[in-house]
Amino acid sequence: MSAAPAGWLAGRCVTCGGASRFLAVPAADGSLRESLRCEACGCIARQRAVAGLLLDAVGPGAEVYLTEQASALYLALRRRLPRLHGSEWTAAAWQRLRMSAWLWRHGVPRLVRREDVTALGFGDAGLDAVASLDVLEHVSDYRRALREFARVLRPGGLLLLCVPYDPALAGVDTLATVDAAGTVTHLRPPEYHGDPLGGGVLCFHRFGDGLPEAVAAAGFEDVEAMPVRDAAAGLPQPVWVIRAVRSRSLPPPAPPGR
Ligand SMILES: [Zn+2]
Repeated sequence: MSAAPAGWLAGRCVTCGGASRFLAVPAADGSLRESLRCEACGCIARQRAVAGLLLDAVGPGAEVYLTEQASALYLALRRRLPRLHGSEWTAAAWQRLRMSAWLWRHGVPRLVRREDVTALGFGDAGLDAVASLDVLEHVSDYRRALREFARVLRPGGLLLLCVPYDPALAGVDTLATVDAAGTVTHLRPPEYHGDPLGGGVLCFHRFGDGLPEAVAAAGFEDVEAMPVRDAAAGLPQPVWVIRAVRSRSLPPPAPPGR
């Protein structure tokens, strides 16, 4: 990772659509992926990378599902895409209430929707786009989640995935598994990623070139791992986004447990 100076970077924010400034606070490894927060809309680098691709591809009438809701990205995209759906994955009612209160404070008077990405509540082939950021690495059965994204998208619909992605890594490195009873087995020292509204969340996978292959196998074509970089848009370092188009027909359902 190239050295990144701390401080303000001026540019145009694709998420809120105007001139802004982005505050660079490099991580220990020099990465700005989780940084460069827009002064106007609060979105960080990876959120702008996905938002730019999404807003280039869909019109304001598009029905889009974003796998987060109590976030700056949801608030910003909702202004551009009135038919945006968001959700959070949390079993605890008090957490959903806390997230809903956060939404209300930001002018969105609705309860947070709960969704499990491996069993979505959306009907078949109804959505124009699905965008998911830093969720899949926390999903033990990520292949099932990919099949669900394919199921709910219309043929030709767009999938945008942003995860910690290493194009130099072969396949997918699985760090932990979970059985039907919910018992987690660690295959490697556990890694937890920060969750802004709670403690850390266990990371099940490190994704390499096996992720685009898994996306294609789930019912997508034109699968591309894109290093999104545009210094003038507050993205001085590449942010990896997997972009794919839902195929006309889907593969047969996988047997249970696969
Ligand atoms: Zn912005």
